[in-house]
Amino acid sequence: MSTATLTIDLDAIAANWRALDRLSDHGTQTAAVVKADAYGLGVARVARALARAGARRFFVAVAEEGAALREALGPGPQICVLSGHMAGDTDMIGDLDLTPMLNSLDQMTRHLEALPGRPFGIQLDTGMNRLGMEPDEWAAVAAIALEAGPELLMSHLACADEPDHPMNAEQLATFHALTDGTGVPRSLAATGGILLGSAYHFDLTRPGIGLYGGLPFAEAQPALRLTLPVIQTRMLEPGETVGYGCAWAAEAPAMIATVSGGYADGLLRSLSGRAVLWADDVPCPLIGRVSMDLITVDVSHLAAPPKSLDLIGPDQGVDALAEQAGTIGYEILTGLGARYARRYTGGAA
Ligand SMILES: *Cc1c(COP(=O)(O)O)cnc(C)c1O
Repeated sequence: MSTATLTIDLDAIAANWRALDRLSDHGTQTAAVVKADAYGLGVARVARALARAGARRFFVAVAEEGAALREALGPGPQICVLSGHMAGDTDMIGDLDLTPMLNSLDQMTRHLEALPGRPFGIQLDTGMNRLGMEPDEWAAVAAIALEAGPELLMSHLACADEPDHPMNAEQLATFHALTDGTGVPRSLAATGGILLGSAYHFDLTRPGIGLYGGLPFAEAQPALRLTLPVIQTRMLEPGETVGYGCAWAAEAPAMIATVSGGYADGLLRSLSGRAVLWADDVPCPLIGRVSMDLITVDVSHLAAPPKSLDLIGPDQGVDALAEQAGTIGYEILTGLGARYARRYTGGAA
């Protein structure tokens, strides 16, 4: 088999959820964000493991993700849709018991007319200017909205991964101003917000990246191993070059491994000439350009040609790889390729 293997440790993900649940204030419920196929790790297996760990409320980005999640979880757990109630979503929301987080007066009208009496939450904009009702819009509709009985009032922090950023306190104050006295459960914090402390926790926290072992949750257990098979190795004479653009040239005799995995698998092209792969605990530099299905690695210093190399594993986490690519762990995770064989460990599964 020449496809790479992505091993996902469901026990580590469950442990990360429990750790974030413990960090969340006493009496605060901890949800789980599983949008984008659980950040690329496979929503069905991941969500079931999280439900077994105790998660009772899940967040997805769009209604279609909610439908797939409902199929995986069955009835019971609450599934919240961050994009709210869009035209065309009504049947999915109604039939599969999804809870839209309504983002505008338009969405609220649509929901209350199409599915009266069915659950919903409301997303408020406290300064990020991405999703949610603006303060003046909220002021105009709050009375009607509250009368209809929302399950949750929520907002999202723009700078929670920078604890000293003044935006955090500003958004917190705005959220209080918009929601104090409503008596409705409230949620402001994702992973970064949980780490800002209990003032940000309210009734519900919504961690995503921390569950999967990513920053800013530095104490997270790593949950991934990405092992790429070596297809062939060859010896190079000094002066010979490797790959597209002849971007790397051997200065001395070299042993080069051609490894299965390329930019079609989420190995960003910006890793060209910069990434490190691992033969057990021995680092081996990626040389030349990342191509669609293949990368090339200098393994001259190994005693024998390796059968496979790890790109993510015990010696190099998702965020270390992200740094080599000039991006963030979120992008590495959600770009993990569809071609990888996903193998799950733990999770009593
Ligand atoms: C993605 C997202 C989350 C989860 O954020 P993390 O930083 O991954 O913990 C929570 N809430 C909203 C609104 C989101 O879009």
